Amino acid sequence: MTELRVGSGFDAHKLAPGRRLVLGGVEIPFDLGLEGHSDGDCLLHAVCDAMLGAVAAGDLGGHFPSSDPRWKNAASIVFLEEVVRVVRRKGYALENLDVTLIAERPVIAPHVQPIREALSRALGVPVDCISVKAKTADGLGAIGAGQGIAAQAAVLLRRKG
Ligand code: MG
Repeated sequence: MTELRVGSGFDAHKLAPGRRLVLGGVEIPFDLGLEGHSDGDCLLHAVCDAMLGAVAAGDLGGHFPSSDPRWKNAASIVFLEEVVRVVRRKGYALENLDVTLIAERPVIAPHVQPIREALSRALGVPVDCISVKAKTADGLGAIGAGQGIAAQAAVLLRRKG
């Protein structure tokens, strides 16, 4: 097995009324929230897919099918904790994570540090190994019209022992 492995992940969810907005495991005050079978946390879903991708262990939908009632309204941090266990069983640990969130609204900047800290706790790495960047789509397309939020993630894993 190689010493280092990279992974990338992407996810997007629609914004809808009557839902809580949770990004990176942090609840953000807003009048809309992300739709989804779980809590719709597209940031954590992208991180999970990047981690699984790095060890070629499939994707989030394969591990936690949306057809399974156990995951209805589930906190996605539970998915990430299981993904960390999958990566550990494969003999790897996270070196660093870089996330880009694409959201026209709400303004994400005030929430970046709490999200970094939540990811640091869930992933068991120092906060300086976690980068979260927030962008807008500059008004382009559905994300730019504020109809949803998207996230991309890149990880580097290092073989342990
Ligand atoms: Mg998702």
